[in-house]
Amino acid sequence: MRFEDLNLNTALLKALDELGYEHPTTIQQKAFSVIMSGQDVCGIAQTGTGKTFAYLLPCLRQLKFSKERHPQMLVLVPTRELVVQVVAAAQKLSAYLSLHTVGVYGGVNINPQRDAMENGLDILVATPGRLYDLAMSGSLKLKDIKKLVIDEVDEMMNLGFRTQLNNILELLPARRQNLLFSATITEEVEALIDTWFNNPARIEA
Ligand code: AMP
Repeated sequence: MRFEDLNLNTALLKALDELGYEHPTTIQQKAFSVIMSGQDVCGIAQTGTGKTFAYLLPCLRQLKFSKERHPQMLVLVPTRELVVQVVAAAQKLSAYLSLHTVGVYGGVNINPQRDAMENGLDILVATPGRLYDLAMSGSLKLKDIKKLVIDEVDEMMNLGFRTQLNNILELLPARRQNLLFSATITEEVEALIDTWFNNPARIEA
């Protein structure tokens, strides 16, 4: 299968062509139509399987330009390094789309991140603690979030983010699509799915 065989658009195909990617990986093939259908998804995938593009491609395909510029998509990841990687991937893929991606993480001054929230964005990639602080301080509006991705959720649980994740999920609009990716589905991850996900499709890399 080639990327041309998926229901992408010229902007995304052009970006993929420039990256030199021709064939979707297994997880990318399996994730595409089910994410496009709007169903919640629980994906079992390790790093290196192409899981980042597996959720970014269908989401970028569906997001629409919004004048309001409050984020429509939230990607939660466990570490600063992963924020940087996912932001880079989203920026490359959206080279020909009017979608602005911003990354935020803890351990650095919050004020430039507050300014970035106020200047407007479409896709937010964040670690849970800093995301929660920005939402609580009022700089970040979560009311337009339509797509939530929790990436490397097993690692997030290992780092002790369970309560923080639940607190964030409480703040999100009820009408949204939930996507989760994890190398393993532990009991803690299963409990999160039971509480917050609506009949998720299960896919594996
Ligand atoms: P990930 O599993 O998302 O961490 O991706 C692992 C690496 O594979 C990243 O460097 C991606 O840029 C690359 N990659 C993702 N999708 C493809 C693809 N369809 N063809 C070739 N490389 C890819």
